[in-house]
Amino acid sequence: MAAKIIDGKQVAEELRAELKAEVTKLKQEAVIPGLGVILVGEDPASQSYVTAKERACEEIGIYSDDNRLPEDTTQERLIGLIDKMNTDPKINGILVQLPLPKHLNESEVLLAISPDKDVDGFHPMNIGKMVAGQKAFLPCTPHGVIQLLLRSGVTIKGSDVVIVGRSNIVGKPLANMLIQKSPTGNATVTICHTRTKDLAYHTRRADIVIAAAGRANTITADMVKEGVVVIDVGVNRIADDTKKRGYRLVGDVDFEAVREKASLITPVPGGVGPMTITMLLYNTVESARIAAAKT
Ligand code: NAP
Repeated sequence: MAAKIIDGKQVAEELRAELKAEVTKLKQEAVIPGLGVILVGEDPASQSYVTAKERACEEIGIYSDDNRLPEDTTQERLIGLIDKMNTDPKINGILVQLPLPKHLNESEVLLAISPDKDVDGFHPMNIGKMVAGQKAFLPCTPHGVIQLLLRSGVTIKGSDVVIVGRSNIVGKPLANMLIQKSPTGNATVTICHTRTKDLAYHTRRADIVIAAAGRANTITADMVKEGVVVIDVGVNRIADDTKKRGYRLVGDVDFEAVREKASLITPVPGGVGPMTITMLLYNTVESARIAAAKT
């Protein structure tokens, strides 16, 4: 029987409704969560991501401070703006859209963001806390994956999870979250990458496969067991003349074939994508709540 589809849009809408209610409550206490957004350059994909994030903020009542800087922005100017946001009480979260133009030092920029406003969860302080199992801002995409699993009724505890991909923004933090001794963890996790000797050996014994390789058809039907839960993080462009823009988006999983064996599966688009922005909103609201409690 074909798998049930995990509707990321619907789960994201549920979560956004909860956050909107939380923001309304905070506003009654004169607290307005604020997100400082910085985009450097003209990259069209980054522009559309930033617009989507700002629209999502508006939808649930978060104030967003939009800063679009020219391509030739210097490191000093960028860090200066971050410093200003670090001390601005109206700003609870700072988002620097990546990638930055080549002449800018990305790790130095991310380090300049106050860990208290690091709503992307990329600051080493937050990463360290997350690894140590302490309270921290969790990176948005992995946190979104965990919320998708939990809100779809998947048991994480005791499951064999195989993650394909070991990037700093998806694979590594996701593996860390899933092994924590916590209600959202307690899984047994294997991380695979391009040097893994036999990828299918690992994916075939997994209860949950999470694909974050950035390559179409990395996971095919012969690589998974019956009843597997599949989360497809990948977003890949495939040439398609039938589309006006000349391409369509697919994930890392051969969706139609794998769907026949899986019990649950996320589509691309409409799976993990909507959750990533939602978890950014979640962290911003959380940050506003923490800041309000301190005053
Ligand atoms: P990345 O930095 O390029 O990392 C890809 C990882 O996958 C690497 O660890 C690589 O191994 C591994 N890999 C690639 N091909 C493989 C293969 N054939 N077999 C096994 N491992 C393989 O990518 P990323 O930033 O983590 O993103 C991964 C995908 O998720 C991309 O398509 C990206 O667009 C998408 N994404 C989506 C969202 C969302 O919100 N939907 C958010 C973030 C990312 P090595 O380390 O050995 O090179």
